[in-house]
Amino acid sequence: MTQTRAAGRTAAIAAMPRYEPDRPPTRVDLSDNTSLWGPPPSVRATLAGLSDAQLSRYPSPYADALCAALGDRHGVDAACIVTGCGSDDVLDSAIRACCDAGSSIAVAVPTFSVVPSFAEVNEVRMAPVELRRDGTVRAADLLAVDADIYYLCSPNNPTGMSVPGAELIELLEATDSIVLVDEAYADYADTDAVALTEHHDNLVVVRTLSKAFGLAGLRVGYAVGHPDVVAAISASRGPYKVGALAEAVAIAVLRDDVEWVRARIDEVRELRAAFTTRLASAGFEVLHSDANFVAVLVDDAPGAFARMRDREVLVRAYASLAVFGDLLRITVAPTALLDEAFDALVDATR
Ligand code: PMP
Repeated sequence: MTQTRAAGRTAAIAAMPRYEPDRPPTRVDLSDNTSLWGPPPSVRATLAGLSDAQLSRYPSPYADALCAALGDRHGVDAACIVTGCGSDDVLDSAIRACCDAGSSIAVAVPTFSVVPSFAEVNEVRMAPVELRRDGTVRAADLLAVDADIYYLCSPNNPTGMSVPGAELIELLEATDSIVLVDEAYADYADTDAVALTEHHDNLVVVRTLSKAFGLAGLRVGYAVGHPDVVAAISASRGPYKVGALAEAVAIAVLRDDVEWVRARIDEVRELRAAFTTRLASAGFEVLHSDANFVAVLVDDAPGAFARMRDREVLVRAYASLAVFGDLLRITVAPTALLDEAFDALVDATR
């Protein structure tokens, strides 16, 4: 029995979609929604100023100083924050903390492709709930599934729409189950769910420094929620998940670079609007995006992907998705890169 379970887990881990971190450098890489503006300005100085002790000693087991800095950022107590090795780690820990083997997770699909793997690894049953064709999710559709935990991605990867606030509140009020809202891209949106955690004990909002903060290499993610739920996620996450280097850089960026990050976000939002308009004018169907990427519906995503890659333009291809079929997800980047992506996309799809 033990062996069978271990084999199942190994298979689930092996089947996990990869970010292909070892992909050869591509001239125009708009495939993983990281920031094309690089890390914030304070990072190099923080790295240069690290003490020997910060490198040779263990960090604080649960990154207490970072929790305090993140608490300040969101106006909540540090006890409402749990960090992790990227938000991947936080999602995995949250699912494990809130579910037993055999529990069910309702997931609004199509969505972040790693979540079904985390469910499987934790022996949690997936209950997919399809998004509406406008890219939104409805509370009534989710509540039709009596799940132990709900996962919503807002703005949703790979389609780009945020979960409507009224639908989220309806869901939170109608269920006692934990609602896990993955806000990896919320820095680019008009709304966020963190403020709702004060009034809804069953809401856990997951965030990351990998996108708008330009620090994917650092691996810092976190969740905001009720202290009791956060304590359970911390226990399932375990100690020493955030290294001293990552903690020091993250704290400095939250202290010194918020204005710089805000300016990059504004830039992305402007570029996103212009790129969407340009694509639509050229006849493409583009989904509304609140994130730092746009989803373009195409007939044959793998084919278009390959033709774009031949021109050294890398995007992310999704084939036969529920509700939407084939689409290409393109990260919003500085204009010169978007121009290249546009030309390659036009050639690849005509
Ligand atoms: N959630 C979503 C929706 C994502 O798209 C990603 C990364 N692509 C993550 C979580 C994980 O990000 P990280 O582990 O770098 O914080």
